[in-house]
Amino acid sequence: MRLIKSDTMELKLNIAGLVEQIKKQKKVKKAILQVPDGLKTEAQNIIDKLTIATKIQFYLDIEPVYGACDLATNFSEAVNADLIIHLGHSKFCEASKKVIYWPTYYDMASKDLDVLVKNIDEKLKQKKIVFVGPIQYSKIIKELEKRVRLAKVIKTTKTGLLNENQILGCDTSILDDITDKVDAIVYIGDGNFHISALAQKVQIYQLEDLDIVPYDQKDEIRGKIMSEYIFKNAKNIGILVTSKVGQNNFLVAEKIYTKLKKLGKNPYLLIADFISYDKIMGLKLDCIVNTACPRIIDDKENYKMPLINYKDILKFI
Ligand code: SF4
Repeated sequence: MRLIKSDTMELKLNIAGLVEQIKKQKKVKKAILQVPDGLKTEAQNIIDKLTIATKIQFYLDIEPVYGACDLATNFSEAVNADLIIHLGHSKFCEASKKVIYWPTYYDMASKDLDVLVKNIDEKLKQKKIVFVGPIQYSKIIKELEKRVRLAKVIKTTKTGLLNENQILGCDTSILDDITDKVDAIVYIGDGNFHISALAQKVQIYQLEDLDIVPYDQKDEIRGKIMSEYIFKNAKNIGILVTSKVGQNNFLVAEKIYTKLKKLGKNPYLLIADFISYDKIMGLKLDCIVNTACPRIIDDKENYKMPLINYKDILKFI
């Protein structure tokens, strides 16, 4: 089933495979379906197809879903569902409920892959490179690894719950053992969120149409320096914690709280499920330290107060 089509890529869902997977589960009468926000326009279509094929009753989780860390375990309990079907992402955390993770994958036509490979080979001739990206791009990355000839591809080794070549905005650990061994990291994915999580120890390239271009982190670095300055001078500091199963870092938050107290600051632990500015409106804070998904920072303009990811302040406390 084709979900999204751009000039060069198609995002596909293997719905027949998913039906087969659901049918393998025993005693499932009710399920929660989670789809990433970008695929909500297709959610009803998907539910219709799954309902006809499996005869299961489906609830659609309409809360924002950014990653497999956003598991609907609470909804599953609320409606006594037997299964959570999480579309678009791969497994990220352990859950107390039965979950089928069903990623969606981008495809690229062979002739377009050839153009991209030619550009990579020309720009990174004789360089040691590693390809990384979100799970949705893993099929394209596999093809690139097979086709690139002039650049030397160094393979990542699969670790933990991440797949080979997979990075998340909160986890780039597959590169830990390899960054020192390559001349360039080639990010195959969209947007700047995942790529901004990469440490700038070697040159990073990002996909642009059927080419790669150097990634420039200047604005991010400037933003981080500014946030650090604000944090050092802040007195009243909110520490954001989410109850979402895969983003819950309450132990880290409590450690930060204790350290900030020792530094003579006034920290406050703040908890919510989905985190947004309207939930902290009215609180008198000089800045907020975020221990939930680092992507919240993308929304920082709406927060009307400085927002800093916790990893960026650990060196100061
Ligand atoms: S980056 Fe955010 S949305 Fe993605 S897996 Fe990590 S916590 Fe979840």
